[in-house]
Amino acid sequence: MKRKTFLELSSALALGGIISPLSGCKNESPEMETASTTVPRTNWAKNYTYRAEKLHLPKSTAEVRELVKQLDQQKALGTCHCFNDIADSPKHQISTQDLKQVIGIDEENETITVQAGAKYGEIAPILQEKGFALHNLASLPHISVAGACATGTHGSGVSNGNLPSAVRALEMVNGKGELIKLQRGDERFNGAVVGLGALGIVTQLTLDIEKTFGVRQEVFQDLPLESLQENFEDIMSAGYSVSLFTDWTKKLVSQVWVKRRTDHELVDLGADFYGAKAATRDLHPITRLSAVHCTEQMGKPGPWHERLPHFKMGFTPSSGDELQSEFFVPFENGLEAMLALEKQSEKIFPHLLISEIRTIAADDYWMSPAYQQKSLAIHFTWKPEWPAVKELIPMIEAELAPFGVRPHWGKLFSVPKASLHERYPKMQDFLQMVQAFDPQGKFRNDYLDLNLYDN
Ligand SMILES: Cc1cc2nc3c(=O)[nH]c(=O)nc-3n(C[C@H](O)[C@H](O)[C@H](O)COP(=O)(O)OP(=O)(O)OC[C@H]3O[C@@H](n4cnc5c(N)ncnc54)[C@H](O)[C@@H]3O)c2cc1C
Repeated sequence: MKRKTFLELSSALALGGIISPLSGCKNESPEMETASTTVPRTNWAKNYTYRAEKLHLPKSTAEVRELVKQLDQQKALGTCHCFNDIADSPKHQISTQDLKQVIGIDEENETITVQAGAKYGEIAPILQEKGFALHNLASLPHISVAGACATGTHGSGVSNGNLPSAVRALEMVNGKGELIKLQRGDERFNGAVVGLGALGIVTQLTLDIEKTFGVRQEVFQDLPLESLQENFEDIMSAGYSVSLFTDWTKKLVSQVWVKRRTDHELVDLGADFYGAKAATRDLHPITRLSAVHCTEQMGKPGPWHERLPHFKMGFTPSSGDELQSEFFVPFENGLEAMLALEKQSEKIFPHLLISEIRTIAADDYWMSPAYQQKSLAIHFTWKPEWPAVKELIPMIEAELAPFGVRPHWGKLFSVPKASLHERYPKMQDFLQMVQAFDPQGKFRNDYLDLNLYDN
């Protein structure tokens, strides 16, 4: 299919892209390490080819400021792990791949300050060596701190905020090329942290850290749906971080991953967990795949950064050949929302690799899917079958609409702009902030036009 045709077809779904075999996120040849390339570059999943013709690789905040001043249309690019066109620009992308230093660890105030492009998997061992930890991590450590925070990326845990909830301060270059510093407590800070890249280019973030802790990861198989219904809150609260994996069939949750801190009081979970059986070996969430990609399980204690993500740095996370969607509903509606989807299992299952269910504590970030609502996140790792997935996404959103669904900003969705405006009470404040930070619309792109902006 020709690229133009595909984009036209997919525009109604806020999605776009073609599969390009030519290159990944980063251009590998040295001559590409310059400001310009016409070689197609794709996101991680290779389902989207960026339209921006030029990729810029600044090496300092000063260079970012110069670029922002010189260029008209542009957008920040992290590690390219989004599944849609959120990180694209009609003309220029500003990559943070060369902005990844740890600027400092303040042991007394328990913070780490990093450049925007630092990956969680890179800073975690540095923190661990100094005796510190982050409160939580996503399923994969391969993503940049700024890119993850910009979309509200999360792990799991009924008391754990998403990754942006650890941000204490940030610096960003706004559309005028000015360096803006914001910290927790500033009114605009709550608009800026989950900023979708719409306000500027974040150059530096300061994150809360805490004393290091250990985690044991135990996996249980085949949790009866009936038991989940009866014990939903207890199961989701059975550890520091709990994930359910299901393909929605056989009235079973295929795997329950329970991650428990070793500095918390631990009871023996035994071989039978609410009717699910303790796994006898390490497992991949997609049971048939090799667990070599996954962090260690079987209750063996290990440092936080080697247990909280499901996937190891240096290994392909998830399946690699996939699409993803994720939807957030208020936690109190979570079980009912799951049951509504379970009724659609015959439609969903043929195109699904696996679903994951997680919890996220409420936060105050205007554009966070967990804004002022403790949430249940219902995630879909799809087979790379776009024509079928494109049909399923609106069906799932319709099932979840009565529960006030909010989509993951970095994954595939089709919730219309009007509904997004209804479901984000601070949307108008955010749009005013965009206008103030980027009066010329330098960071505008198709995604923001389709999902957020009125004109
Ligand atoms: C295998 C896999 C597993 C995943 N697991 C999870 C998970 O467990 N939980 C979850 O919530 N999500 C998950 N995701 C989604 C992913 O974490 C998010 O989409 C995240 O935003 C990707 O970060 P990135 O650095 O790749 O950002 P990019 O995709 O490069 O960019 C994302 C957005 O951030 C903006 N941005 C990037 N850098 C900056 C900057 N310096 N300043 C301003 N804006 C910036 C971009 O403009 C864009 O809007 C997963 C994705 C994959 C591929």
